[in-house]
Amino acid sequence: MGLLLAEFQPLAAIATTPAGAKRLLSFCQSADATLWVPESLLDVVKTAGEQNTRLTIKAYTGSLKDHLANIWADHGAFVFSLAAGAVVRLIAPLLQHKSTDPAVVVVDETGQFVISLCSGHQGGADQLARLIARQLGATPVLTGASAGLGLPAVDMLGVPFGWQRGEGDWTGVSAAVARGETVEIFQEAGLTLWQSHLPEGHPFYFERGEERENIPPMPHAQIRITFKDQLLISPSPIPQIHWHPKVLWVGIGCERGTSRQLIETAIQQVFKTHQLALKAIAGIATIDIKADEVGIIELCQDWHLPVKTFPAETLRGIPVPTPSTIVEAEVGTPSVAEAAAIAAGNQFSNPLMPANNSLLIPKQIYRDPEQPGAVTIAVAQSQQEYTGRTGTLFLIGTGPGKLDQMTPAAQTAVTQADAVIGYSLYIDLIAPLLRAGQIVESLPITQERQRAERAIELANWGLTVAVVSSGDCGIYGMAGLVLEELRALGWDGKVPAVQVFPGISALQSAASRVGAPLMHDFCAISLSDLLTPWEVIEKRLTAAAMADFVTALYNPRSLTRTEQIVSAQQIFLKHRHPSTPVAIVRSAYREDEEITITTLDKFNEIPINMLTTVLIGNSSTRTHADWMITPRGYLGFDAESGKESTPREPI
Ligand code: SAH
Repeated sequence: MGLLLAEFQPLAAIATTPAGAKRLLSFCQSADATLWVPESLLDVVKTAGEQNTRLTIKAYTGSLKDHLANIWADHGAFVFSLAAGAVVRLIAPLLQHKSTDPAVVVVDETGQFVISLCSGHQGGADQLARLIARQLGATPVLTGASAGLGLPAVDMLGVPFGWQRGEGDWTGVSAAVARGETVEIFQEAGLTLWQSHLPEGHPFYFERGEERENIPPMPHAQIRITFKDQLLISPSPIPQIHWHPKVLWVGIGCERGTSRQLIETAIQQVFKTHQLALKAIAGIATIDIKADEVGIIELCQDWHLPVKTFPAETLRGIPVPTPSTIVEAEVGTPSVAEAAAIAAGNQFSNPLMPANNSLLIPKQIYRDPEQPGAVTIAVAQSQQEYTGRTGTLFLIGTGPGKLDQMTPAAQTAVTQADAVIGYSLYIDLIAPLLRAGQIVESLPITQERQRAERAIELANWGLTVAVVSSGDCGIYGMAGLVLEELRALGWDGKVPAVQVFPGISALQSAASRVGAPLMHDFCAISLSDLLTPWEVIEKRLTAAAMADFVTALYNPRSLTRTEQIVSAQQIFLKHRHPSTPVAIVRSAYREDEEITITTLDKFNEIPINMLTTVLIGNSSTRTHADWMITPRGYLGFDAESGKESTPREPI
């Protein structure tokens, strides 16, 4: 399962019957989950799961209720194969709050339904139920109102982007959404991409602060996406919630030995005075010689903040409102707090936005007679939020086009992703897998490189990005482009993380529609000379024809590239009999599928386009009724009768 279920670890699966345990075995193996069963079942279940070397099966002693109480706090998610009612009774005494409880999912014993029972949003049970359902081919049962409306849950909206939940009436706003009432969105920070991928008829109204022609309906609730601590500014008569994108960089300069307490109080005071939200802090920025300053280190550890440090030479080059000659004499730059805040903020500038002076609060000096040291604080605002997440790229092959020809792992990966990028036709084919709130970007077929760059940009920023290609993504697909681009960018092989999900390539799907043409050695040749010189393609065609490879021709012909397929035919005719079987398969497994079995000398009479794969048989390939069959080997092949004797190799 690799990266797929990482966010739910450690994961515990629980079954109390052999059938229930069996239902969970394959999931436990792929998800790295521990399967817990009663002691009496251990032997039976271990035998059933014997071939799975990676499987961890453990027995609990005593009551399941006690066992759950023991492991509850250490786990990110629980998957039960038990009656839902029994699970409710078991977990009831353990539940505390939806913001802290683990995800609880129930799989029915027949494997038809996967129920998100508890902690659907913040605990991730809805998402886990969707992922398990994809794997089992089951139906996810999600009973939250937003799932029913096809809307992103308001308490999950900013999670992919690292936004923090602030103050507010979360239940009130969720209830307004569930009733279909108008919800006003006011967003002054953070990514707005999520706004453009909402289902039709959604209840959100976007307050953009512009002159409006149409007076919007009275909102019943409000979502404020801001770096400000709005409650201090104006209390709201309607339910209101706050999301805080992490856009504020706090620059710090301090005397050696300044206490953590003083630094903390100083930040709190600056934020309070200027009505800024502490939850919008992306991180702390300072000069590199302060990297070991104990007060700063302690504060960042407690507040879970990153520290960005910069050398004096960098800071010196940044224009600031309040430079100081004393500071310059001491550390080699006229500004630490202001310059470091700006420098950190600039790391998250948006290339599409004009550079602006990002300094929000110029430096403020704090001292406290009872605390050692002195500290200066400045705050800069970055254009893009800091997600605090490490991105992931899923490079996914979607198969020929029909959903049931796509692997469950690939389907799960699409469901999991925060963003899905691909050519519009392929995105349409996988539309049923997409979920509300996902960023979906389809680009025209020609812009493959831009697609790869965009995917890397989003992953570098912390998102889980699915890049989809038809067929297999590593066969004339996006996987190569993305990896090449990563290599060019000096990628370390780890961040962003990459996982490749194979798919059924066009040559396999085309072959399956006509029989077994690929039973012996075969090769694939793309006739597209956009990226490969024609002489090279010609050389490969000749070599394949001479070596008697069964040959799959990809990209055989486009509106403008019409000659290549004729040359390919001529080359093969020099080395193979004119009656050699050829299959022309267009749009395999799609609604407009068309299949023709013909011969080498005549195949160019059949319409061929960019959605076609041409399969040329070898010298022993034969047709039988509507089927194309290549014998397993040459040795036992009787050329006269066209029949093969007993195979001599194990198959
Ligand atoms: N990554 C894809 C190939 C992309 S190149 C794969 O592994 O299948 C695009 C070419 O693939 C098309 O020009 C056509 O030759 C072939 N192709 C893709 N989908 C096809 C389908 N459903 N039926 C027949 N050929 C297909």
